[in-house]
Amino acid sequence: MKAEIISIGTELLLGEITDTNSAYLAGQLPLLGLDIHFMSTVGDNQHRLVDTLRQAWQRSDIIIATGGLGPTQDDITREAIAELLNEEITIDPALVKKFQELFSYYKIEMPPSNIRQAGVIPSAQIIPNPRGTAPGWWIERGERIIVTMPGPPREMQLMWTQEVLPRLQQRTEGTVILSKTLKIFDLTEAKVDELVSPFLSATNPTLATYAKADGIHLRITAKARLASEAQQLINQREADIRAILDDNIWGVDSESLESIVGALFMAKGLTLATMESSTGGLLANVITNVSGSSKYFRGGLVTYADEAKAAFGLDAQLISQYGAVSAEAAEAMATVARDKLGTAIGVGLTGVTGPIEIEGKPVGTIFVGIDDGQRKKSLAKNYPGNRLQVKQRAVTSALFELRRILL
Ligand code: AMP
Ligand code: MG
Repeated sequence: MKAEIISIGTELLLGEITDTNSAYLAGQLPLLGLDIHFMSTVGDNQHRLVDTLRQAWQRSDIIIATGGLGPTQDDITREAIAELLNEEITIDPALVKKFQELFSYYKIEMPPSNIRQAGVIPSAQIIPNPRGTAPGWWIERGERIIVTMPGPPREMQLMWTQEVLPRLQQRTEGTVILSKTLKIFDLTEAKVDELVSPFLSATNPTLATYAKADGIHLRITAKARLASEAQQLINQREADIRAILDDNIWGVDSESLESIVGALFMAKGLTLATMESSTGGLLANVITNVSGSSKYFRGGLVTYADEAKAAFGLDAQLISQYGAVSAEAAEAMATVARDKLGTAIGVGLTGVTGPIEIEGKPVGTIFVGIDDGQRKKSLAKNYPGNRLQVKQRAVTSALFELRRILL
């Protein structure tokens, strides 16, 4: 079945808010085996909304609309659907009574405008809204379905999971689409593409690559009649890909590199300290995004100026000889962090985040130093991008290297 998503609201067209509802629904519909063919955004204008709905009605089996169900004059989704289907809106007294009860529970006087939200058309079944007054509508005409849900994401998402998803599941038995994302670092998107090229032309499962701040994401998507069959297709393809890329795959789906590194520190009972220059504490920040990180992360020194590095004991002679942006400095910083904070492992991070080069080293140069008490090691990388992107890549690089060492 072909599905289409329509987001309604002038604020979306003005760029004042981002359309997260469509993104959410786009992630949900494939789980039902529904193919999304179109997504549109339309402002609070009845004429244009009716046009958009009419087009969707002609080309799609299922239309899912969000927004425009509020009590104010600009919320016109109900009116537009009534016009599309040539039906009359009447006020449902049972709904009015429910609103009145809700308002009196919160001891607020119900504004008369809320009555509009009790409007229904004969073809619409009311979908209850557990988190607000705006009910949704479920409409079936022949083989077609229209669903409307309120705009606020927390209302929409609960209505979706509690009410809409179960109803759609009954309709769509027979196909499931499942995906799994493999997360890769230290290879370019083009290289990943080249390495997995034998599988790129397959239609089931399909493969898609995405460049993200934490590396390249490779998504495997399979379609089958049963979830177990789709899962098996994914498992086989994952095994094919791991045979080629395993060293570079650090995680899957919603896993983060910092949580994976954190789990390794926990499992090995080791402790960590950082000393950062160009990343200004971002590495320490990211490490502490993991709950329970206090068990292995002692702390981080943010030493931006060379004087600050020296104040914590970094050899000033070494800096003048090799430069603050150098493999030697990164390794020495790792040792300082390790010594000062008394940890098993120290990491030093230094680099050039731009936009001007430092010490003759180009923008995007970064050095990660690691001292584990037995060995000092450093790696040099060069990343494209603006300051923030270079900082993020530097942090990912440091985490990826830590993972390698811990494994
Ligand atoms: P509405 O149902 O049109 O009155 O929408 C109410 C509020 O929900 C808007 O002001 C937004 O804050 C939010 N909202 C509406 N549509 C979306 C959307 N597509 N994505 C994210 N938030 C939305
Ligand atoms: Mg609106």
